[in-house]
Amino acid sequence: MQQSISSLLYEGKAKKIFTTQHQDECLVFFKNDATAFNGKKHAEVEGKGSLNCEISSLLFRFLESNGIQTHFLDNQENCWMLVQKVEIIPLEVVVRNIASGSLCKQTPIPPDKVLSCPLVDFYFKDDSLGDPLLTEARLDLLGLVSNDQRIELKRLALEVNGLLKDFFKKIDLLLVDFKLEMGLNQKGQLLIADEISPDTCRIWDLNAKDPQDRILDKDRFRKELGGVREGYSEILNRIKGFYKGRE
Ligand code: UDP
Repeated sequence: MQQSISSLLYEGKAKKIFTTQHQDECLVFFKNDATAFNGKKHAEVEGKGSLNCEISSLLFRFLESNGIQTHFLDNQENCWMLVQKVEIIPLEVVVRNIASGSLCKQTPIPPDKVLSCPLVDFYFKDDSLGDPLLTEARLDLLGLVSNDQRIELKRLALEVNGLLKDFFKKIDLLLVDFKLEMGLNQKGQLLIADEISPDTCRIWDLNAKDPQDRILDKDRFRKELGGVREGYSEILNRIKGFYKGRE
C-alpha cells in the first residue's frame, strides 16, 4: 500500500477509518462483517469487504467522471480505499425509486410499487436512537444543516440517483433505493462520502424473473436468501464488464 496508517480514527459496523501521514486523507478498510436490523443480525461474509471496496471505488469514479465530487481518492490493495478526510454530516439521505424496506413497513405503499418520482428521505445517523426518520421541521430543529444545505443535499442525492439509475440500467440492473452520506472536506466542499455498495443500495437483476433471484444486494442477507457474496460479485462483474466493453 502506498499510504501508511497512523491510527484508528473510527470503527463502524462495516468499516474502519484510519488516519494517514497526510492530515487531509484517511484510509478506509472495508470489513467482511454484515449487519442488519440495527446490528441485531450479524455474520461474516467472506470476501464482502473487498467486493464493496471495489464496487464503491468504481461507482465513486463513475460519479466523479460525471462532475459529482466525492471523497474518493484511490483504490488501494484489496479492502482499502484512500479518501479525503471529511466531517460527516450525521444524516443518512435515502433515495427511493421503488417501494421497499422501511417505506413499506411505515406506510400502506405495497412492496415493488414504482414511485411516480424519486422519494428523498433524511434519517438522523444515530445507532442508539435507531437512525430515526426526520421530518423537515425536526431537521430544522436539530440545526444540523441550514435550509440551503438541505436543499443542496436533496438536489445532489437526486442527481446521483439519476446518474446511477441510468448507469445500472445499461448493465441490466435496477436501482431500487440507496443511502448516501455526505461530508465537508477541509476546504468546506460538500462531498459524497462513506460507500456506495450493495450494503447501502437495493439492486435487482433485470434479467431474473423470480422476485428472490433478482435480489443482488444486502436483502439477500436480511432475508436469509443465501448467496450474498455471489450477488455482490454479480454486480461487480457487470460494472467491470461495462468498462471492458468500452476499452
Ligand atoms: N440503508 C443503509 N443504511 C441504513 C439504512 C438504510 O445503507 O442504516 C439503505 C438500505 O440498504 C436501502 C436504503 O438505504 O438500500 C433504504 O433502506 P430502508 O429505509 O428501507 O431501511 P431497511 O428497512 O432496509 O433497514
